[in-house]
Amino acid sequence: MTQDPRPTPGTVYLVGAGPGDPGLMTARALELIAAVDVVLYDALIPATALDGARPDAELVDVGKRGGGAQVPQETTEQLLVRHALAGRSVARVKGGDPFVFGRGGEEAARLRAQGIPFEVVPGVTAGIAGPAYAGIPVTHREHAPGVAFVTGHENPDKPESTIDWPGLAGFPGTLVFYMGVRRLPQITASLIGGGRSADEPAAVVQSGTVGGQRVVTGTVGTIAEVASEAGIAAPAVTVVGSVASLRDELRWFEDRPLFGRTVAVTRARAQASGLARRLRALGAEVIETPTIRTRSLAATVPPLGAFDVIALTSPNGVRELVASLLRDDRDVRELHAATIAAVGPGTARVLREVGLRADVVPETFTGEALAAALTAGDGRAGATGAPDGGGRGASAPRRVLLARAATGGSALPDVLRAAGDEVTELALYETVAEPLSDAAREQIAAADYVTFTSASTATFLAQAGGMPTGDRPRPVSIGPVTTAALSELRVTPAVEAAEATIDGLVAALVADASD
Ligand code: SAH
Repeated sequence: MTQDPRPTPGTVYLVGAGPGDPGLMTARALELIAAVDVVLYDALIPATALDGARPDAELVDVGKRGGGAQVPQETTEQLLVRHALAGRSVARVKGGDPFVFGRGGEEAARLRAQGIPFEVVPGVTAGIAGPAYAGIPVTHREHAPGVAFVTGHENPDKPESTIDWPGLAGFPGTLVFYMGVRRLPQITASLIGGGRSADEPAAVVQSGTVGGQRVVTGTVGTIAEVASEAGIAAPAVTVVGSVASLRDELRWFEDRPLFGRTVAVTRARAQASGLARRLRALGAEVIETPTIRTRSLAATVPPLGAFDVIALTSPNGVRELVASLLRDDRDVRELHAATIAAVGPGTARVLREVGLRADVVPETFTGEALAAALTAGDGRAGATGAPDGGGRGASAPRRVLLARAATGGSALPDVLRAAGDEVTELALYETVAEPLSDAAREQIAAADYVTFTSASTATFLAQAGGMPTGDRPRPVSIGPVTTAALSELRVTPAVEAAEATIDGLVAALVADASD
């Protein structure tokens, strides 16, 4: 056994995060990002790549920021080594694949030299995924028996170029160039000079796999000019080969209903991912600019056996109620005798996740509608198959626990009290402002749509000075309560969901975009 007092080195994971679409991250990448102590990440990783990181993990940006200076490779490698030798597990997260123009090989060699254990997690590389999302297969039985991935970073005019350009021009298959879109004139001239036909199809894919994807097509002879005229910029890959002509027939990504639209999601980060995922799947470019966040009030829940009805008005309320019970060494069995009322399908769904079925879900999804549904009688304990409410007589006041946010309005308790109910309000969490950066404010202003999923997202966005004015972005409201909050801020939603759910909001947005 060694007497060395130093900790056992942590493992370094060289993780590929794919080309940009968060759905193209591997299960292994997500699992490791959620587990490690330290994440060192590059600029070109999916927007949501690190959302699953541990709250106490150290996240270090070693990428290029807004054209600024990149952290030198040597510094990055030193950081990797230092964290690992201190016993920490490290995910080195890179765009695409770590071993394809990702300097993963150099980092692995450095780790090996230092005796640090490492693992490589391959990723979906941009040179395959970008063309794929443009409708271009990089190999094809009738077009290309092979594909070569080439750096466009080298200047072919310079004598120190290590690329054998005539050899490359003679490669019998597709060529995919990474980097160096600005060098396209030299690259294509060298290919033609090396014997490649100037008439061969070519395409450039910028920001492949994300909502901002742009594709131009031409020939080896024209593509440099076409790309420059279209203002194509990094990150982009260039495809040379007859497969590029298949795009006309096989394009698919750009035909999605929200392709080319930018949508700002103002929802709390913890809840935004579902909506953002749905919008991205429809082709939208989503910017997550949370204006609110919920904070647990660590409430003490009164004995639940004392209530006939437990009313929950948000998914977060359900999670907080269950968490509060467990914190006190209690659990949902206390709810067994009560009628459970949920304000909408989202709340009902989270109830199901914890093994509870909502007895009452109103037709429309407002607190008032919930009150109406309860007072209409279908919330009476026993009326919906729930056991009776603790053996009280039908004339005794019904005891209702309203478990919700501290800022919940008085409409719901007022209606219930007016109907003779005995209402106990339990504040489980509060909604607080999430600071909005200048960059986020500008992103919202430049978006096509801005979504409001609750009154508080509207109020807090206005307070943070981020409420857009004018026709763009078009405000999208989830329902009447949110619309009322917007109206108070003198904002008229361009779109209001017919049904106050996330599904309803997405449907309304798609309908508006296709008008
Ligand atoms: N390891 C990465 C490549 C890093 S080099 C991978 O495997 O994909 C950076 C280059 O990758 C960019 O200059 C561009 O050529 C390409 N690239 C990365 N993301 C891209 C994207 N979403 N669309 C098009 N090209 C992309």
